[in-house]
Amino acid sequence: MYALLDGNNFYVSCERVFRPSLRGRPVIVLSNNDGCAIARSNEAKALGIAMAEPWPYIKRRLPDAGIVALSANFTLYGDMSNRMMAIAAGLGPSQEIYSIDECFIDVTGVPGDLVARAHKVRERIAHWIGVPCGIGIAPTKTLAKFANHVAKEADRKPGAPYPAHLAQVCNLAAVPQDELESFFEATEAREVWGIGRQISKQLEAEGVRTMLDLVRMDPVVARRRFSVVVERTVRELQGTPCMAFEDQPAPRKQVACTRAFGDPVTTLAPLEEAVSEYATRAAFKLRQDGSVAAEVLVFVHTNPFRTHEKQYARSATVPLRRPTADTAAIVQSALRGLREIFRPGFRIHKAGVMLLDLRDAHVEQGELDLEDDAPDEPRVRKLGAAMDRINDRFGRGTLQLAAAGVGGDARSWTMKQQWRTPQYTTNWAHLPVAHA
Ligand SMILES: [Mg+2]
Repeated sequence: MYALLDGNNFYVSCERVFRPSLRGRPVIVLSNNDGCAIARSNEAKALGIAMAEPWPYIKRRLPDAGIVALSANFTLYGDMSNRMMAIAAGLGPSQEIYSIDECFIDVTGVPGDLVARAHKVRERIAHWIGVPCGIGIAPTKTLAKFANHVAKEADRKPGAPYPAHLAQVCNLAAVPQDELESFFEATEAREVWGIGRQISKQLEAEGVRTMLDLVRMDPVVARRRFSVVVERTVRELQGTPCMAFEDQPAPRKQVACTRAFGDPVTTLAPLEEAVSEYATRAAFKLRQDGSVAAEVLVFVHTNPFRTHEKQYARSATVPLRRPTADTAAIVQSALRGLREIFRPGFRIHKAGVMLLDLRDAHVEQGELDLEDDAPDEPRVRKLGAAMDRINDRFGRGTLQLAAAGVGGDARSWTMKQQWRTPQYTTNWAHLPVAHA
C-alpha cells in the first residue's frame, strides 16, 4: 500500500507562508531570468495562465488582473521541501522522495486508520510548515498518484467529478468498486501518471479515451498494441504493483551549476568571476553528497535564439590531478578550461561548470591515504568544510575565493531575478521579523 503526498502549487505556497498578503491573489513564480511561469496559484490557473507561459505574454494578455509575479527562490523551496518531507516521513516506515514537492510512502502494515493518520500528517504540515498538501492512498504507485489527483480536485471543486468527502485525503482502497469505476470513467486517460501526450494520442486513435478504457484493457494486448510502458500502467491501474519503490536516492552521476546571464558577457574577467562562483557552488554540492570528482567540464555559449548574432559554443574538460572536492582545485581547473575556450567578440549568454566522473569520497580517501604526495589534503578538506559551515550559517557567498569577484549581485553577469523574495529560512540576515 502506498501513499503519495504532494504539496499544492508548492512554490507559490512557500512564498505565501512568509507573505500572507499573497493569499487569494493570482500569484505566479517565474523560471530563472524571470522567463516563464513555473508555478501558479489556483487564482492564476483560473485566469487561464498556462504552465511555462512566457511572462511577457501574460503581462500583455492580462494587464489588469493584479497578477503578482515572483522570481524563483529555490533556496527557500528546497529548505521548505526538506522540512515538509521530514514530517511526511511520519506516515510510514519508508519514503521515496520523488520530486521537490512529492514523495511516496510505503504504508504497508501501518496499523490503525490510514485516512485519519494521513489527515493528521497533513494538518501537521499545514500547521508547522504552512504548506497545504494532498495525500492519495492506494495499492500501487500509479493508483496513489490518481488518488492524490482525486484528493486535490475534490478539494478545489467539491462534487465535480469527485465527492467532497475525498478532499485532501483520498484512500482509493476504501472506495466501493462501482464508485471507483465512475471515477475512472470521469477521468481522461491522459491524466494517468506515465501516459504522456504522445502516448495519449496513440491511445485515442485506438479508441482509448478514459481511464476506465485503460483499466479494462488486457495487459498483453496493451503491450502488443502499444508498449511495455502502457502494459505496466494498465497492470498498476488494475492493482498489481509493477514499479519499484526507491527509498535510496540514486547516487548523482554529475554535479552541475549553469546559468544564463542577465546581460550577455563579452570579456574574460566577468566570465572568470562567474565560472569561479559556479565551480564553488558545484564543489559545495559535491561535498554535501560525500563525493569527489575526477574531471571538470566548463562551457560557454551565445544565445542560440538570437540568430542575427554571431554564434559561439565551446566546452573543455580538464582532468583534476586527483579526484577531489576541494574548491580551490576545482576552481583552478575550471578557469584553466575557460581560458582555453574563451574567444573575444562574442556575446556570451550562458556558462556552466559540471563535475564529472564522481566517486565516493570515503573510498577515494582510503586509496589516497596510501599515497604520500598529498601532505596538504587534510588541511584542504578542513578549509572546504569550514567555508561550507560559514556559508551555511551566514548565507551563500559570505566566504568565497577571490577569483569569484567581490561585487555581489552588482556583478555584471549575475542572473536577472528582479522579484526574488528573501531566503527566510536559510539566511540569518533574511530572518523575518514579527511585529506584535
Ligand atoms: Mg505539487
